[in-house]
Amino acid sequence: MEIEVRKLLALKKYEGEFTFDYDPPADVCLIPLCRIEGKVKVCGKYVLCDDDSVEVTLTVEYKIVGQCSYCLKDAQKDVTFTSEILYVAEEDDENYIYDGIKINLKSAVDDAILISQPHILLCREDCEGIDVTNN
Ligand SMILES: [Zn+2]
Repeated sequence: MEIEVRKLLALKKYEGEFTFDYDPPADVCLIPLCRIEGKVKVCGKYVLCDDDSVEVTLTVEYKIVGQCSYCLKDAQKDVTFTSEILYVAEEDDENYIYDGIKINLKSAVDDAILISQPHILLCREDCEGIDVTNN
């Protein structure tokens, strides 16, 4: 998952698009009894700026599957999330840093997955939990 900035500059490709399939690490899903199924689809656009910074618009798409946080039935949810990121060659406190040669998107993608996932997974929006009256 790399943007080869130096190479793209040489080719004068100052703007472009990218798509990657990403195998997320198992610990990136924080909801109990749930996991991200399959690959995370990563796509976006980049713009190379005059000052060596790179603007990246990043969209992640993935599916969470597991057990409903309220009633433990099977549940799943599709998540799509877009973030605007700036990569800079000189370290500052706000942006992602890169070495001026190429950008590895992994940490930004992991961050996007962490930010975008819900705190709980529900089988349906109005799930009221395990129905104890039927037992
Ligand atoms: Zn439920």
